[in-house]
Amino acid sequence: MISTFEVMALAAPLKQVLNELEYTTPSPVQAQAIPFLLEGRDLLGCAQTGTGKTASFALPILNSIHNNPRALHPKRCRCLVLAPTRELAIQVGKSFSTYGQKIRFRQTLIYGGVGQTPQVSAMRPGVDVLVATPGRLLDLIEQRHVDLTAVEFLVLDEVDRMLDMGFLRDVKRILAILPQNKQSLFFSATLAPNIVELAKTFLRDPARVSITPEVTTAERIEQRLCFVDRGNKMYLLEQLLDEQAKAETSKLTIVFNRTKHGANKIAKALTAAGYESEAIHGNKSQAQREKALARFKQGLVPVLVATDVAARGVDVKDVGLVVNYDLPNEPEAYVHRIGRTGRAGANGMAVSFCAEDEIDFLRDIEKTIKNVIPRLSDHPWHSESLKQKYISGYKPPAVKQGGRSVQKGGRGNRRGGGFSNGNGSSRAHSA
Ligand code: AMP
Repeated sequence: MISTFEVMALAAPLKQVLNELEYTTPSPVQAQAIPFLLEGRDLLGCAQTGTGKTASFALPILNSIHNNPRALHPKRCRCLVLAPTRELAIQVGKSFSTYGQKIRFRQTLIYGGVGQTPQVSAMRPGVDVLVATPGRLLDLIEQRHVDLTAVEFLVLDEVDRMLDMGFLRDVKRILAILPQNKQSLFFSATLAPNIVELAKTFLRDPARVSITPEVTTAERIEQRLCFVDRGNKMYLLEQLLDEQAKAETSKLTIVFNRTKHGANKIAKALTAAGYESEAIHGNKSQAQREKALARFKQGLVPVLVATDVAARGVDVKDVGLVVNYDLPNEPEAYVHRIGRTGRAGANGMAVSFCAEDEIDFLRDIEKTIKNVIPRLSDHPWHSESLKQKYISGYKPPAVKQGGRSVQKGGRGNRRGGGFSNGNGSSRAHSA
């Protein structure tokens, strides 16, 4: 496997940037994917956020744009990246800007939840790279503000999430109007049968690259599980935050909660107890979320309380602690959540709370990660009776979430309404 960027057939300005960023060694997904992509192959990549996957596709695409410059055409793009959420779209756009800072190219973003006029104006002269969420992109295609007939590169990022959020139809509609002759890349954290099916239909003899998250996360992220009654969760959280404040690692903490309402409540309670915190979720405007994120990144607000969707694509390198205030009802979300810490080689800690009604979620998560999360019982709110219930195979009743009953395995909230934004909208890009 190629182990330096130096030997890769990347243009000099890209290598210079990598040097300046002090990316000395390609991450595994980069080492595997970039050579295939430079050859022009289609690719099916199994890798989650935090593995360096964005550079693995952005670098070869920027390389091609640099080596074959073309005049822009109104409303067209050469490269289309589809992302499930606007946070991820923004993050991917930033990565293109960073890696492409020394080459000439034009890019823009299209996503929902904000006015479309600036996006229409940005597309008018055409761009090299367009990063978009599916719903708004389709709106603009239908209004003839975007023309996809000249797409040379297609990237589907976080395909699993896109399908979870109910975007399959939108994605298929977009893929159907793209030209046949193009290089296509799918990235997904899991390769569930529906994703393999989609890949079979739309990829041509794809190279396959797989980075297993369990192995990479387990090395860098210490995981702990606390059995705790719901009513004691806030006390336990405060204790963890006190310990984190004294820790050697980063003080930045992300607290996850399934619902927006819950995230707000936690942030309010923390602030009232003297812990600076902010919530990010689908009810906040884009500007509010970006501001909260910026303040978090700068360390001005050390605790961010987030729902799963709002946290997608949040790329904060230096998160020392992730707390799962509740357990996600989708096991894959657990892997995504804890992947917020231990990024880019840093060490991180992920502590999950399990109350009585979450015991089944815990079993599903442990089945998925093929591991039993080490228990943390050395704290005043440890519930021995919950631990015993888990061991005895006790089955809790279904959990109420956002007014709906969620069954074990949590497929209940996958359809239509998006993922844990609970607002009943059929397009989850507003989450
Ligand atoms: P991603 O999986 O694309 O979200 O990237 C995760 C993080 O790793 C980002 O903060 C990147 O800036 C960083 N990163 C990506 N590739 C490398 C590399 N080869 N060396 C060091 N850091 C990297």
